[in-house]
Amino acid sequence: MSRKVLVLGETRDGALRNVSYEAIAAGKTVAEGGEVVAVLVGESVNSLANELIYYGADRVVTVEDVKLGSYTPDGFSQALLAVIEAESPEALIIGHTALGKDLSPKIAGKLNSGLISDVTAIEVAGGNIVFTRPIYSGKAFEKKIVTDGLIFATVRPNNIATLEKDESRSGEVTSQTVEIKDLRTIVKEVVRKASEGVDLSEAKVVIAGGRGVKSADGFEPLKELADVLGGAIGASRGACDADYCDYSLQIGQTGKVVTPDLYIACGISGAIQHLAGMSNSKVIVAINKDPEANIFKVADYGIVGDLFEVVPMLTEEFKKLKVNA
Ligand SMILES: Cc1cc2nc3c(=O)[nH]c(=O)nc-3n(C[C@H](O)[C@H](O)[C@H](O)COP(=O)(O)OP(=O)(O)OC[C@H]3O[C@@H](n4cnc5c(N)ncnc54)[C@H](O)[C@@H]3O)c2cc1C
Repeated sequence: MSRKVLVLGETRDGALRNVSYEAIAAGKTVAEGGEVVAVLVGESVNSLANELIYYGADRVVTVEDVKLGSYTPDGFSQALLAVIEAESPEALIIGHTALGKDLSPKIAGKLNSGLISDVTAIEVAGGNIVFTRPIYSGKAFEKKIVTDGLIFATVRPNNIATLEKDESRSGEVTSQTVEIKDLRTIVKEVVRKASEGVDLSEAKVVIAGGRGVKSADGFEPLKELADVLGGAIGASRGACDADYCDYSLQIGQTGKVVTPDLYIACGISGAIQHLAGMSNSKVIVAINKDPEANIFKVADYGIVGDLFEVVPMLTEEFKKLKVNA
């Protein structure tokens, strides 16, 4: 059964986030041959619309307004709800990002629909769209289907493969005017606390430090390794609590959830709350002095040793590999 699917494109600092393309790929599966319409909301987003078409959207609807320059729950929900009303989609897909996590329950509440959040895989089986999502902090997975009404899901970044970019694709881009009013919050200033460089929640490589790094300076060797691998720096709550780094780097149950291709845990014991944020990474490398550390139970590769010796050695070896590549 083919269906019309609406997908929200998400931007940051004037560029589309990769999760937008992943949401389009998810939308294609859900559409089963039907139309995938991407929605872009912001102050000035029209110029990004074609990029969504190159990644598989059939059509793009933009809502531009100076009041939508920064995300606010009221502004973005008014814009998205107006497009939903005009398009009457059978399904809606949003990235499971900070924005998506905030916006999606509000939209589901307004539409009186269900919501399957934090989806990591989507398949068509037995005539149903089956969504897989982790439960119990990633210890188990559940499969869900929607039996009635709008199919509404948020997709976890880095889990759904994007479609190949095809610049020969074309599609209609239309602008919808929506009156954005009665905003209860206004963003006056955005202060980015995370390191510039690679976005932690979308990074393909994450180098994470725990209390074992021992100081803020102890993150330096990890940053050098991250630079060589084009990765982002993450941390355990232990490292954040000890003031070695900012809480915006925290990975885990009460921090960010990451699923990179490579996760290198340095001086992290592997508490269950930390594993909740990284155990679905594709390849996990753990460096820890303690051979009994819990992190080794989820690691694909374990190095028992002092991170201050091992990490610089890895950096040097990766540098050599890059020179010879
Ligand atoms: C409600 C709740 C929510 C929580 N949420 C989170 C969360 O989101 N994320 C999170 O991470 N934690 C969270 N925690 C905290 C969690 O339980 C752990 O306390 C925390 O993860 C421990 O951080 P750590 O592994 O860095 O420190 P530790 O447990 O102290 O481990 C440090 C490790 O470093 C190793 N080490 C020391 N020196 C070296 C060296 N030179 N070289 C190599 N290895 C070395 C040690 O062997 C040890 O294994 C939460 C806790 C609670 C109660």
